[in-house]
Parts: sequence; C-alpha cells; structure tokens
Amino acid sequence: MGFVQIGGVEMLNIAIVGSVDHGKSTLIGRLLYDTGSIPRDKIEEVKRICKLLGKRFEFAYAIDALEEERKNDMTIECAQVFLRYSNEEYSIIDVPGHKEFLKNMATGVTQANAAILIIDAKEGITEQTKRHAFLLKLLGVSNIIVVINKMDLVNYDKRKFEATKRVVKNYFKKMGLNIREVIPISAYCGDNVVKKSKNMLWYKGKTVVEALSSVTDLKDRSKGFVMIIQDKYCLNGKEVYVGNILDGCLKKGDVVCVYPSNEEVKVEKILDFREGVIGLDSARAPKAVGIVTRNTLQRGNVLAKNRRIMNTTKVEGIVFCLLGSIKENERYVFRCATQETFCKICKVIEKLDINTFEKISEDSIASAEIGRIRLKFDKKVCLTKFNELAELGRFVLEKDGKIIAGGIIS
Ligand code: GDP
Repeated sequence: MGFVQIGGVEMLNIAIVGSVDHGKSTLIGRLLYDTGSIPRDKIEEVKRICKLLGKRFEFAYAIDALEEERKNDMTIECAQVFLRYSNEEYSIIDVPGHKEFLKNMATGVTQANAAILIIDAKEGITEQTKRHAFLLKLLGVSNIIVVINKMDLVNYDKRKFEATKRVVKNYFKKMGLNIREVIPISAYCGDNVVKKSKNMLWYKGKTVVEALSSVTDLKDRSKGFVMIIQDKYCLNGKEVYVGNILDGCLKKGDVVCVYPSNEEVKVEKILDFREGVIGLDSARAPKAVGIVTRNTLQRGNVLAKNRRIMNTTKVEGIVFCLLGSIKENERYVFRCATQETFCKICKVIEKLDINTFEKISEDSIASAEIGRIRLKFDKKVCLTKFNELAELGRFVLEKDGKIIAGGIIS
C-alpha cells in the first residue's frame, strides 16, 4: 500500500530558474553559505581542494559534495536543499531545465510557491529565460523575484542593471506577469544575496533573502473544503480512507459530497497518524489524514464541501509537450492527482509561439512546444482550474508508461 506522506509542506518552496550558466548553483551555494545552512568546513574543504588543483572555486562543487552525501534520500528529479533564515525554513529547488520543472510541477512532485529567475548581467535575457518565465506564468507561480547576477563582471554598473531591468520588466509586462523585485547581485562574491552590497551603494532595495522573507502569502486556503482519496486500509477491522486535504477545513460529522458519484457522505471520524493514531475534531489543509465513513470510497475520489468541482468528461487545457508529439484523435492516459483514465485529444485548438505569443493553427504539438487542447475522457474526472487549486488543475498525459505532456486546466 502506498501510504500518503503525513504532514503537509508548510515551508515555502522556491524554484530557482534561469538559463544554464547564469548562476543558479552559485546562488544556491551562496544562500546556504551566508545563512549558515551548510557546514562552513564543507565549503572550506572544497576551497582547499580547488586551490590544490589550481582550479577556481565553484559553489557547484560544494553542492555536488552535499548531494553525494544525501544521494540515498533523493526522491525528486530536481536537486532540493533547505535554507534557514530569520526563523523561516525554505526549500530551494534547483531547476535544471524547463522540462524537468514542468514535469515535476505538473505531476505534483514539486509545488513552487515562489520563484527566483536568474539572469546573467552580461548576457541578458535568453530564449531559455523566456521559456522559464512563460512556464512560471503557465503554472501560476505569481511570486517572482528576478535577480540580475554577475554584477561584478559589469563593474557593478548601475546603468547596465537599469537597462537589463527595463528589458525584463517590459517582457514580463507583455506576458501579464508581475515581478516582486529586481535585484542586482553577484552570487559568486556575495553581493545583495544575504549581505547588502558595498559595491552597489546605489541600490536601495531588498537583498535576495529579504525578498524571500516578504513572500508570505503561501496559499489562500480560505475557500471551501477539498480532499482527494489516495488509498484505503484496515484499522482494527474498520476501513480507513487516507488522503490529502488540499484546501479548507474538515470537521468531524461534516456531510461532504463525493465525486464523481455525487453522493453525500458523513465523516464519522478524522484520524491523524503523525504520532500513532489520534482522533481529531477537525483538520485543515495542507494535511494528510485518515477518515472513517459508512460509505465505500475509492482511490481518486474527491470529497468537497462548499466548493465548485468540475465533474466532467470534457475539458480544455494548456499542455507542454515533453516527448514525441500530441496529435488530434490520439488516445493517452490522463492523470490528475490520484485520478486516472483514458482520454482522446478531440482538438488541438492552437499552438503558442513563446517568443511572439502568437497563436498558430496546427493539429499537433511537438516536443518542447506549448498549445491549447480539448480533451475527452472515457469516464468522469473531477477537476478545478489550475489557479483555483493546483492539485486538481494540473495533469499529465502518458503513452506506453511515458509522460508525453504536462498540462494545466485554464
Ligand atoms: P548554473 O548553470 O545556472 O547553475 O550556473 P553556475 O552556478 O554553475 O555558474 C556558472 C558559472 O558562472 C560558474 O563558473 C560560476 O562560478 C560563474 N558565476 C556564477 N555567479 C557568478 C557571479 O556572480 N560572478 C561571477 N564572476 N561568476 C559567477
């Protein structure tokens, strides 16, 4: 039995995105080092080895060394590290490429609450930067901090920073994305990451950690209750259904609606498994719990109260093709949270050019392309729009056991 992970993720998940070589690993290393989240001797050791070998020290080496130690714990495809700053804990997700990012976001392996988009001050915005920015928009990551890195290589020049900032802001505006901050940094030298830079006294804004601290609106969970059933098991001869409360609050005795059957069920008991089995009067998202009811539930059932859930056989979504291509009239396995069914692509409505944002009429979407499609399912599926509830608003399409595309309901 695949047991659900107990305890929701309450720390802020930050994705670091940007073109290759613009400094993602260096920024992560610098953040860890300057906040004391990484043993100093580890860095010193790597520095010593670099010196011995006559090589320039790289934060990436230290991160690799750390990862080597944690290899057995690695469960996700993106490297993830934890950062402590001012009593807050953050999980930093290094995003090696937009494909991995989309795949992990679409499959729910990672859920970024905020993102740092890194841009090399010398190189400026690249195609990859644009792709990443577009994906952030697509995935509804609205807390975006832009850092202009390697300011040391442009003599900490204010005009250079302002020029790049203008281009970035224009691009984001065109896309309808808001930026929280644009910060000039040198990840390598440690300017404006944790410590305020003495080399850029002209900059009066926040450092990277200050900007992270100001991202507090994790998620608005004040809407109605939603839970998805993950599994069932037997406890003292009684069936207990385990699942994740994705949104809102569940109280013992609540009558909730079960989808897709539209039945009403009474929640007799709520169980917490964090320390043994404890009965609860109520539980709030994000949380994994067990529930006892007189009705029979199944994996993939969605329970909801005071909440509009689409209980449907047809839907439109935006997909990002990861492998092969998506074609009209082809069949795929559709997965959303723990729901699974066959589906057919009824129509490729349009393809989107990520540079011009033009809509192109076409009947297939090739690998690394983005488009809008209409889907028809073999049976009813419970969904919400992605920006209403990410977990029920994102999906993957599979063929022969491989993920062909990730998508969101928009
Ligand atoms: P990633 O591919 O985005 O993870 O980039 P890395 O962090 O591996 O950095 C690529 C190269 O740029 C490495 O040689 C880094 O040392 C260098 N680099 C990163 N940040 C800075 C910076 O602020 N200043 C300078 N001079 N070099 C940097």
